[in-house]
Amino acid sequence: MTATARRTERARALVLEAPRRLTERAFPLPDIGDDDALLRVEACGLCGTDHEEFTGELFPGYAFVPGHESIGVIEHIGPRAAARFGVQAGDRVAVEVFLSCRECDACSRGEYRRCVRHGLKDMYGFVPVDHAPGLWGGYAQFQYLAPDSMLCPVPASLDPVTATMFNPLGAGIRWGVTVPGTKPGDVVAVLGPGVRGLSVSAAAKHAGAAFVMVTGHGARDAPRLAIAREFGADLTVDVAVDDPVRALRDATGGALADVVVDVTAKAPAAFGQAIRLAKPGGTVVVAGTRGSSGTPGFEPDHVVYKELRVLGALGVDAVAYAQALELLAANVFPFDSLPCRAVGFADTDTLLRDMAGEGEPPPVRGVIVPDRP
Ligand SMILES: [Zn+2]
Ligand SMILES: [Zn+2]
Repeated sequence: MTATARRTERARALVLEAPRRLTERAFPLPDIGDDDALLRVEACGLCGTDHEEFTGELFPGYAFVPGHESIGVIEHIGPRAAARFGVQAGDRVAVEVFLSCRECDACSRGEYRRCVRHGLKDMYGFVPVDHAPGLWGGYAQFQYLAPDSMLCPVPASLDPVTATMFNPLGAGIRWGVTVPGTKPGDVVAVLGPGVRGLSVSAAAKHAGAAFVMVTGHGARDAPRLAIAREFGADLTVDVAVDDPVRALRDATGGALADVVVDVTAKAPAAFGQAIRLAKPGGTVVVAGTRGSSGTPGFEPDHVVYKELRVLGALGVDAVAYAQALELLAANVFPFDSLPCRAVGFADTDTLLRDMAGEGEPPPVRGVIVPDRP
């Protein structure tokens, strides 16, 4: 495709102009130089952030193209970018939400979320639309890939919608294995059966956990708990009905958890449960957010007497993304059969509302496919 031809083409994209105002606009395709690239977006996964910015709970205050879990094919790439990113035109890739200069101290340590040039200020899916070329997110037919982009090659066997699991499964690997140091033989308790909880369960089992429990709360979580066994769970518990500590002890012959991972959302009681579920000397990873300051059932003294390690975990990194794509391609767990609603632009509003809990029961996984009508 020549530069002249590209200039005449346009990309359709959804722009979030204000909370609940998602408008389709057409953008001219940018010219690609030596250092940047253009991605043809095939699928963009949704997480909690997507519906929170749609409803305004998180709205950063300007018009932008959302979408920060993009999978696509490199449509056009400059020669220096190809060398830097390690990919060629035609390759299917996953896009890391953060940019990295690859030179500063933070980037050299692999902590590119603290990159001095970028940090948290120009993440994909959060850049204002008036910053040229405007196509900075995955709710678009094409996404611009700036010179400091980080890309992960997607194994050829993965279809694009399944490949969007690189983000939640990467989180599952980081929160469920890397951060707590989960070892073969460990007992692992996962609080929250959403896509991240199921991913933590699968990642812990794959790392050799001897026993994995997944908890949920009430009827809304029932269908998720029902499939958790396919994703590594040995035991599922509805905490609205059963005490998770007793259930775990009964199932393990008295043992508590070496590792507890809390990936609940807005469940203030989960933290107290996590502390109670951990064995002395155990590790509790807190990756879910409460949205409140209350922690009913939490007894701080238990942290002391049990000498617990309580670790916060936020986000994922490119190392975990690569591991996730490898695990997806290995087909050990049926991630391709995870209940998923993949929609085009016309149905994006409805899907985001459902995921915010305002409409139909939310799917386990929501994905936007820009080329779907
Ligand atoms: Zn996200
Ligand atoms: Zn940097």
